[in-house]
Amino acid sequence: MAEHLRGIGVSPGRAAGPAYRMTPAPRLPDPSPVADPQAEAEQVRTALAAVAADLDRRASAAGASLAADILRAQAMMAQDPELVEAAAAKARTGCTAAAAIDAALAVHRQAFQAAGGYLAERVADLDDIRNRAVAACLGQPTPGIPTPAHPFVLVARDLAPADTAELDPERVLALVTEEGGPTSHTAILARALGLPAVVMCGGALDLDHGVSVVVDGTTGEVTAGVDAASVAATRVAEQRRRQRLASASGPGRTADGHPVTLYGNIGSAKDLHGDLEGVGLFRTELLYLNRTDPPDRDEQAAAYAEVLAAMAGRRVIVRTLDAGADKPLPFLRQSGEPNPALGVRGLRLARRQPNVLRTQLEAIAQAARQTSAQVWVMAPMVATVAEAKRFVAACRDAGLPTAGAMVEVPAAALRARALLSVVDFLSIGTNDLSQYTFAADRQCGELADLLDPWQPALLELVAGCASAGLAAGKPVGVCGEAAADPRLALVLTGLGVTSLSMAPRAVSEVREALAAHTLAECRQLATEALAADETRPDRDGAAVG
Ligand code: PEP
Ligand code: MG
Repeated sequence: MAEHLRGIGVSPGRAAGPAYRMTPAPRLPDPSPVADPQAEAEQVRTALAAVAADLDRRASAAGASLAADILRAQAMMAQDPELVEAAAAKARTGCTAAAAIDAALAVHRQAFQAAGGYLAERVADLDDIRNRAVAACLGQPTPGIPTPAHPFVLVARDLAPADTAELDPERVLALVTEEGGPTSHTAILARALGLPAVVMCGGALDLDHGVSVVVDGTTGEVTAGVDAASVAATRVAEQRRRQRLASASGPGRTADGHPVTLYGNIGSAKDLHGDLEGVGLFRTELLYLNRTDPPDRDEQAAAYAEVLAAMAGRRVIVRTLDAGADKPLPFLRQSGEPNPALGVRGLRLARRQPNVLRTQLEAIAQAARQTSAQVWVMAPMVATVAEAKRFVAACRDAGLPTAGAMVEVPAAALRARALLSVVDFLSIGTNDLSQYTFAADRQCGELADLLDPWQPALLELVAGCASAGLAAGKPVGVCGEAAADPRLALVLTGLGVTSLSMAPRAVSEVREALAAHTLAECRQLATEALAADETRPDRDGAAVG
């Protein structure tokens, strides 16, 4: 008998195959007497060195990418001399290597958590090191992504950045998690890779290992215990859908020809994929990761030029550095803020380190001069008109004529009209705008219902920005994850936004949805979404009151 589970679909498409859970973290056996404490101490060193070597190997396999940087940083943590010595010392007191590693990492974990900020956010990496090293000592399978000999559906509680780094899209058919939310790492990664994904799927961890499932990343349905014929039929239908989407191209248009520009969100040239009208959000943080000093102007210009050259003749909207909170960067030494999301982040960093912004703008201008791409720049986390004015002036000084502001803070949305009197365009970052409108941490899966971009309060802020844009005759786009949901894209179009920017692999689905609806239908859907209660159309009863 088939079993039906339901979560939130966060990356469209259907997939079918055997479900495999992430290998769980090892549990420590009851304490036992130790014959040779010195040998246990040696095993501690060997296990931590093996974990670091494995992380380094995975980093090399990941090439030049954010994933590789994350893995390398984690490998360094596993070889931190203080940690290794603390664990070895513990083993010399007479406990097993596994227990010594567990105890030493628990102390480190507590210290990281107490330090707050950037270090507190690294706790998941420490837990991962602990799990891998303890499993090595106990001779148990390495925790993490399973490695069956055939493609499979990955089931997990939630995915950490380190897990996602080693996920091979050739082998993983779809993702299903019990936790996580629409803006979780799982969701963002799934959309970037074009994998169907369902998050907040209660009961997923109880599925039998290897049971055949059909996952629908659009509706959020997961059906377990399906027969071979259903698996085959799902695969054929999905293949046809992908072929159909791949063959569609051209600019975004509603059925009656109303244009909506479809852009891609990228972090580097590697992310460019498919037929894009341009880049609506070029995140530039990748260049600054894991460094004690910011990259210099020439290094930055070379990286920007690579993207601009690939997008010759098209528009590229470069976002200036958005460090802090969910994007901690060591060189800014920001730890110690009690509420990093409400602290000196995004454009606010220019108050403290104006040179960082100045150099970046000069680097963007330098790269822009080398190509025919149409370069626009925008600042993250703008809150006031005065901030926007200063940013626009800095852009003009650097020789960048088109400057905009992201709308991520409710204050900016409320002042959209005034902002548009000083900037050339607005781009609404719904991920942060949700977080700040609902006072709900964007990384907190438990609050996913508040972070749902279908929330009417969020849509009302978008509507206000869009009508300010229409009145001013200036573009107002959406570049948060909301733009990647084909049905929400219709609503956003109906609200009057002029562009939608999303993971490049999500573009074809949105293009198809637009082409199947008139502007009047989009406006009707927008009216309904604004008038709705807190649930999205496919989640009746799922919201928390
Ligand atoms: C956003 O906040 O919606 C956004 C697009 O920026 P990021 O996700 O990079 O913070
Ligand atoms: Mg943001």
